[in-house]
Amino acid sequence: MPQFKTLDDIDVSGKRVVIRLDLNVPVADGAVTDTTRIDRIVPGLRELADNNATVAILAHFGRPKGDVRPEMSLAPIAPALEKALGRPVRFVATDWRDDAAAAAVNAAGPGDVLLMENTRFHPGEEANAADLAAKFAALGDIYINDAFSAAHRAHASTEGIAHLLPSAAGRTMAAELEALEAALGTPKRPLAAVVGGAKISTKLELLGNLSKIADTLIIGGGMANTFLAAQGIDVGKSLCEHDLLETAAGILKEASAGNCRIVLPVDVTVAREFAANADSRTCDAGDVASDEMILDVGPRAITEAKAVFDEAATVVWNGPFGAFEIPPFDVGTVEAARHAAGLSRAGKLITVAGGGDTVAALNHAGAADDFTYVSTAGGAFLEWLEGKPLPGVEVLRG
Ligand code: AMP
Repeated sequence: MPQFKTLDDIDVSGKRVVIRLDLNVPVADGAVTDTTRIDRIVPGLRELADNNATVAILAHFGRPKGDVRPEMSLAPIAPALEKALGRPVRFVATDWRDDAAAAAVNAAGPGDVLLMENTRFHPGEEANAADLAAKFAALGDIYINDAFSAAHRAHASTEGIAHLLPSAAGRTMAAELEALEAALGTPKRPLAAVVGGAKISTKLELLGNLSKIADTLIIGGGMANTFLAAQGIDVGKSLCEHDLLETAAGILKEASAGNCRIVLPVDVTVAREFAANADSRTCDAGDVASDEMILDVGPRAITEAKAVFDEAATVVWNGPFGAFEIPPFDVGTVEAARHAAGLSRAGKLITVAGGGDTVAALNHAGAADDFTYVSTAGGAFLEWLEGKPLPGVEVLRG
């Protein structure tokens, strides 16, 4: 990842460091209920404090839309951060209209860690206002962005500030960029992409971009129904975007012109109702009855996906193969994910996944730990798959 500065390129000792983190963690009754995100970022944070930096953390929480909303305060996050870090974390209450943040940094010393109040309590954050970016920048000598999941937004704390201070990617941001670059920028080929999930309408750009880059594109989930229908197949009561049949046909045509092989399910698992343990049967994709709906791919489709993985060097994965939340329609997702995970564990396949329900689906399959990289970034990961430049990443190039 040579085009980004990282913590390896910057001496933080004795410096004041402003670090942008993603602290949007689940909170109930004033306490953090899942520390996964915090656990990921803590080693990088500890490294800064251990190296005698004075650390000022910027982060948002929820969508206060520029107003001070006490229920969206970052205050409850400080104890959880402090516990994970094993160092005191001082919460700094500010509405970003006052000078509390600067005063707190001025009073702090090397190794101190300060958590500033929700950046979105000021409208200038989302507007990327120059004066707020300058206020953030005045808190430090160096800016570190370790919030890949917020990098698709050009906000004052993710983009504006990086123009004003020497900047670098934090440890988790660097790991994410490296994994994504390895998967899509300069992938080991053959590259197979899996795109599943409910609808193609939300994934048109992603499908367009991946079909240009991947050697094989496996389409699963509800969105496969629209592609099947575009080929004249009757999909019965299945989830299907009938207004997008031409669009789907266009994607298939463009992909084949660009030498990307598209794999649609040859067989499917169908039921008459969308319910757990509903009566179901497996049939060829072309044999769905008018009162049935496709809720998963069938066994031959699973075998075909596994064979693609066997031949591939890299797999990029977004979206489940079926309605994985309700058994038995999780079988396609579970079997295919476990197969990819096994190949990854054996060092035969690079597997990068993320976006929407993908993390939950891979966790359900027990496959996430063996994947090479699972991104929890959501929107930023999807925009990367769409091939869009991410403002918070672009500004770090140099
Ligand atoms: P997405 O957020 O677009 O990745 O879509 C994920 C959702 O798609 C999950 O909640 C799945 O239950 C749903 N899904 C996947 N396949 C189907 C299908 N064949 N019919 C209905 N819903 C599906």
